[in-house]
Amino acid sequence: MSTVGSSRPAPSRPLVAGVGNSNDQTRRHNLSTILTTLHHGGAQTRADLTRKLGLNRSTIAALVGELVDLDLAYETARTEHGTVGRPSPYVHPNDRIAALAVNPDTDAIIIGLVGLGGVVHKRIRYETDGLPSVRETVNIVKAVVDGMRGELESTFRIAGIGIAVPGLVRVDTGVVALAPHLDWHDEPLAELLSEALGYPAVAANDANVGVIAESIYGAGRGVSDLVYVNGSPSGIGGGVLVGGVPLRGASGYGAELGHTLVNPGGLLCHCGRSGCLETEVQLNRILAVIGRETIDADELDQVLTTSTDPALETEIRRQIDVLCLGLANFISVFNPERVLLGGFLGSLMAAHPERIQQGVRDASFGELAAGLTLERAQLRSRLLIVGAAEFAFEELLADPAGTAPALTA
Ligand SMILES: [Zn+2]
Repeated sequence: MSTVGSSRPAPSRPLVAGVGNSNDQTRRHNLSTILTTLHHGGAQTRADLTRKLGLNRSTIAALVGELVDLDLAYETARTEHGTVGRPSPYVHPNDRIAALAVNPDTDAIIIGLVGLGGVVHKRIRYETDGLPSVRETVNIVKAVVDGMRGELESTFRIAGIGIAVPGLVRVDTGVVALAPHLDWHDEPLAELLSEALGYPAVAANDANVGVIAESIYGAGRGVSDLVYVNGSPSGIGGGVLVGGVPLRGASGYGAELGHTLVNPGGLLCHCGRSGCLETEVQLNRILAVIGRETIDADELDQVLTTSTDPALETEIRRQIDVLCLGLANFISVFNPERVLLGGFLGSLMAAHPERIQQGVRDASFGELAAGLTLERAQLRSRLLIVGAAEFAFEELLADPAGTAPALTA
């Protein structure tokens, strides 16, 4: 079983009209477009697909029929309320076609089972004693998946494994070059998981996975120039879409937004430099002020919106001001239509929206921030498993007719 590299999950693509089924390439392209539309947009009528995709009714019927034969979609007879004429069948993505998603973190391994349509069938959080090694991670995932093996084999067909890693990942090979908070160096994680589980595997940086997920299912839906900045207990990660394409960089390490410099005289960062965004804007510095070691996201929202502690107010204001400088830099570089804040940055956004909006406008150059929307990311606990699964579905979505017959039952 080989690992597969990834340039990006399949985008929605325009249909090619004309030769239809007589041309194999056109047919496969159109199958890809319809399956991707169902996967990203959910169930819709054949009439909707016909309208949206600009092919005639009989061509859509034939293409949908082929997806049904491949067991990638199914139809129900439900009709739209208030419509006249012939009822149009609803076409659903088959959520029993699924991907495994894996997200190793500093205190737990998250394992998900995600069906077509972004349906989360399972999300298992396996807590570890301290930092998991790569070997432990592979063993834990294998044990959890072996425990589900009966159900997987009887109920699902698996497209592959998508892995979201908090670190630098070479996307073409699935090698984790460096995950500083896990203390992993040059680990061929995708290959090891693929060998252990018997499915193809793809690995990517967690924030890059996050920007894909938010752009398909969350607050970045339909936005092609998008900056996503996520604050986790271990630091700040970023993902960027430019013209609908995820920014990769030469080695796949692009968008390391947490290690952009915002305060040259600031604290020493674990990367060896001083005053990185993730050192200056840090959940731990908030926790230190309120005398806590950990906090869950909902509770943090509560603390930030209701606190009257002046020391906390001072620290929050300092962090927001620095964050706005960082965001203004990203806005200068990427000229995004929308900026999404996730994790504890989303909590800051929810508690102090005006201060952040105004701060970003004040710190930004000229008109760059004028048409920009700044929002909290939406997917929360679903984010990384739905996003990682997207990488695992990439080949199937790109060529359903060529890929589906080989899916593991
Ligand atoms: Zn740094």
